[in-house]
Amino acid sequence: MRIACVGGGPGGLFFSLLVKRARPDWEVVLFERNRATDAFGFGVVFSDATLRAIDEADPVLRDALADHGVHWTAIEVWAKGERERFDGNGMAAIRRSTLLGIMQAAAIGAGVEILFEQVAPALDDLAEFDLIVAADGANSALREQVGAPLGQQVETAAAKFIWFGTTHLFDGLTFVHTESEHGNFAVHAYPISDDTSTFIVETDDATWRRAGLDEFDTAAPPGVSDEKSRAYIANLFAPYLEGGELLVNNSRWANFTTRRTPRWHDGRVVFLGDAVHTAHFSVGSGTKMAMEDAIVLARRVTGEVRRVLSRLRPVAVCLPLLFAQHPRRQDSTARPALRRPRSGGMGARARNARIADPTRSRRYFSGGAGLVDRWRANH
Ligand SMILES: Cc1cc2nc3c(=O)[nH]c(=O)nc-3n(C[C@H](O)[C@H](O)[C@H](O)COP(=O)(O)OP(=O)(O)OC[C@H]3O[C@@H](n4cnc5c(N)ncnc54)[C@H](O)[C@@H]3O)c2cc1C
Repeated sequence: MRIACVGGGPGGLFFSLLVKRARPDWEVVLFERNRATDAFGFGVVFSDATLRAIDEADPVLRDALADHGVHWTAIEVWAKGERERFDGNGMAAIRRSTLLGIMQAAAIGAGVEILFEQVAPALDDLAEFDLIVAADGANSALREQVGAPLGQQVETAAAKFIWFGTTHLFDGLTFVHTESEHGNFAVHAYPISDDTSTFIVETDDATWRRAGLDEFDTAAPPGVSDEKSRAYIANLFAPYLEGGELLVNNSRWANFTTRRTPRWHDGRVVFLGDAVHTAHFSVGSGTKMAMEDAIVLARRVTGEVRRVLSRLRPVAVCLPLLFAQHPRRQDSTARPALRRPRSGGMGARARNARIADPTRSRRYFSGGAGLVDRWRANH
C-alpha cells in the first residue's frame, strides 16, 4: 500500500504516524510545504476531558503535554474591570511549534517519509499512490480540486480576530472584556510554556474600522505582522498584561471561517481535519478534532475498526449522531467569543468531550462502499 499524505499539521502527522506504526511495511509519504520549524500562531489548548481517545491511540500528545506543556484547572473572566474565577476545569496547552516538532520526530522515527518544503503535486500527478489523505488545512487546495462532491458549506464570522503571544503568564484560561473609545474588545488567553501565553483578540467590524485597525496591507507576504494593531492592543490591554510584551508571529486580522462538509472522501482522496471542518478557536478543539479524524481514518485503513467500534459505549454512539442531525446545535463556531463572556465556550467544550468515532467513520465511508473495502477487494 502506498499512501500520500498532504499536510504536516497535527492531523496529517498523527495519521501518518499511526498508519506507519500499525503497518511498517506500507509506504507513507507526507508532503509539507513549510520548513520543519515553521509554525504560525502560538499555542494550542486541550481540555483534559477530551483526550482519552487520542491518548489511547498513541502517547505522543500525552507525553508532549507532560514534558513541555502547561496544565491548569482555573478559568478567569474579566468584565467591566471585575474578575470571576472558576475552578475544576482541567486543561493543558503547548506551543504549536513544540507539538509539531515532537510529532514530526515520532513520525520520522516510525518510518514516515516527510518531504518538507514541498507543495504536493496536483491530484492527477499523485496517480502512483493507492490512497491520498488530504490534511492540508482550512484553505485546502485538494478540497478545491475535488470540489462539489464534498458539498462543503462555509460560514464567515463578521467579527475580526488576531493572534498574539505575550511574555505575561496568565493563570489558566483567561477571558478579558474591555472597551476603548472605539468599542468593545475581547481576549482569550492562556499559558503555553513557562515564559509565553497565547493572546487572541476579537472585536466587531465597526469597532475595528473606527480604531483604524483596517490599514494593514493584506498583500504582505506570510510572516509580516500588523505592528499598528500590536501597539493599539498592547496599550488597550496594558493593565492585564502587567508589563508583559506582546509578541507577533504572522499576526494579522482575519474573519474566522466555519466549514462543514457532509462527505469526507471522493475516489482515492480522503480528507481530515480543518480541510473539512473547522471549530472556532474559543472552543479549543480544532487540533483535537483533526487528531481524532486521524485515529478513525488510520484504523479504517489499517483494518482495526471492528475492534474499536465494539468498545464504544451506547452513549458515545448516540450523541454524535444527534449532533450530526442538528449541526447548528453543535456548532456556534462562527460566533465570536465576545458574545458569551460568561460561558467562554465551555458548553461547546463539554459537548466536544462527548464526540466519539462513529460519526467520523460514517463521513469517511458512507453507505458501506468504502475506499478501503474496494482496495482490499482489488488486492
Ligand atoms: C487563532 C487560532 C487559534 C487556535 N487555537 C486552537 C487551540 O487552542 N486548540 C486547538 O485544538 N485548536 C486551535 N486552533 C485550530 C487548530 O489550529 C486547527 O484546527 C488544527 O491545526 C487543524 O489541524 P490540521 O492538521 O487539519 O491542519 P493544519 O494544522 O492547518 O495543517 C495543514 C498543513 O498542511 C500544509 N499544507 C497546506 N497545503 C499544502 C500543500 N498543497 N502541499 C503541502 N503542504 C500543504 C500546511 O503548511 C500545514 O502545515 C486554532 C486556530 C486558530 C486560527
